[in-house]
Amino acid sequence: MPTIAIIFVIEMKSQLKITNTLSRKKEVFEPLNPPFVGLYVCGPTVYSEPHLGNLRTFLAFDIVYRWLLYLGYNVRYVRNITDVGHIENSAGNVVDGIGERAKAENLEPMEIVQKYTNNFHWLTRTFNTLDPSIEPTATGHMVEQWEMIQRIIDNGYGYESNGSVYFDVNKYAESHDYGKLSGRKIDELIAGSRDLDGQDEKRNPLDFAIWKAVGPSFPQRWKSPWGWGVPGWNLECSVMSTKYLGTTFDIHGGGMDLKFPHHECEIAQSVAADKAEPVKYWMHSNMLTVNGTKMSKSLGNAFLPAELIAGDHELLDKGYSPMVVRFFMLQTHYSSTIDFSNEALQAAEKGFERLMNAKKVLNGLNYVAGNVNADEDQSIIDTLSAVEDYMNDDFNTAQALAQMFELCSKINSFKDGHLDLGSLKAETFELLKTKFNTIIADVFGLNEEVEGGNDAMDGLMNLLFEIRNESREKKDWATSDKIRDQLNALNIKVKDEKDGSTSWSL
Ligand code: AMP
Ligand code: ZN
Repeated sequence: MPTIAIIFVIEMKSQLKITNTLSRKKEVFEPLNPPFVGLYVCGPTVYSEPHLGNLRTFLAFDIVYRWLLYLGYNVRYVRNITDVGHIENSAGNVVDGIGERAKAENLEPMEIVQKYTNNFHWLTRTFNTLDPSIEPTATGHMVEQWEMIQRIIDNGYGYESNGSVYFDVNKYAESHDYGKLSGRKIDELIAGSRDLDGQDEKRNPLDFAIWKAVGPSFPQRWKSPWGWGVPGWNLECSVMSTKYLGTTFDIHGGGMDLKFPHHECEIAQSVAADKAEPVKYWMHSNMLTVNGTKMSKSLGNAFLPAELIAGDHELLDKGYSPMVVRFFMLQTHYSSTIDFSNEALQAAEKGFERLMNAKKVLNGLNYVAGNVNADEDQSIIDTLSAVEDYMNDDFNTAQALAQMFELCSKINSFKDGHLDLGSLKAETFELLKTKFNTIIADVFGLNEEVEGGNDAMDGLMNLLFEIRNESREKKDWATSDKIRDQLNALNIKVKDEKDGSTSWSL
């Protein structure tokens, strides 16, 4: 279990509600087997560095996970790693991202997988997202995938063709609503599908591969009961979610762009193989956009989180710390798009600073009992409740943050003496301190930045910069270069600003 401290067995006026993409309604969350909750989120395909848009989705579900933990649920959080690079494109051909990358870099496919899995882990930790309870890989579940394919065939919804196995969408749609999640109509899908190359193996253009035969030129392939090939991408999530969470589980999440066909296919596969609706609550987070267009590698408008931190991209005025980026994303509800802009990030930087300063001030306040003001006391309790109510209202981080800023104003007034801290009951002050800290750190996942947040480190760095400046004035380049190079070797980036000052970042 992660280390979120559940200090309160929470008694809240409100109940958690989740917008279920399947019903398109906000529903009261009732787990199948309380206090246990099963949460599955589609993970990354590890053949390139995740961009900031990908990060948005993983952050959105990090908040879901953190809030469920805060509520006291015993959550099993499964997020897969897609380490088989095979996605069937609209022409019915297999696109092998990992294999192509391996060939281009002259590496083993598993070296590519390892490299980008490490990179993904660096990313999630840098942005302080909690590790999942299980991080299963597609390659580690080959046998289970064959078993599910076989069940689909046995139940009459899959057929073999030239060593590939296809899901029979038409057959499924005779008795089930294919399209119910994404709101697509099967007739329109059929009308919209073209007779493309590579589809002659299929009975119908909508059928999708659950096993795809590939030749020896594919560096990653397995010998299945149907011959050499690779599993269909849609299949792995069905297999791994139900293996660890049960044939029907509580919450399945992913980016909006995965609703169709990926998640629609997941439902069809589970129903066909196990005669069970796999998911009680489907959740989809919205996209990160740049000037209104979805951030995507193929559109050339994507930048990497590392570029954002370093300020190393033409779209960026400067670098932003991971916690500022996290705060920036929390300001928008997960179901709305976030449009990236330098101005919005600069505003977020100020907001983040204000929140963290208030936290520091609060923790330094000295409580002395005084004349309790019942209204003042109640207003703190009500605002704390409002934070929780907004989080219960479909994880509304934007509104919850706004309530936290109400509390920031109060905290600053206690410090400035505009409000008397003694007007609160001692237990209300303790509640404020505990909840304010817990919500920032454990629910929002916002930490102190190393820069500026650590006086000793700042003092040390300033001392080094003074020595460096003195050596430069004496034209002692060896010493000044040594300081810069050794800091670089420690991953501390030193930047000489235009105003003559020196800044640093990790
Ligand atoms: P992928 O590795 O391409 O499968 O993507 C991993 C996750 O990132 C998926 O859940 C996608 O929905 C999500 N994603 C991709 N692009 C964006 C974007 N621009 N904004 C938000 N999420 C995205
Ligand atoms: Zn998936």
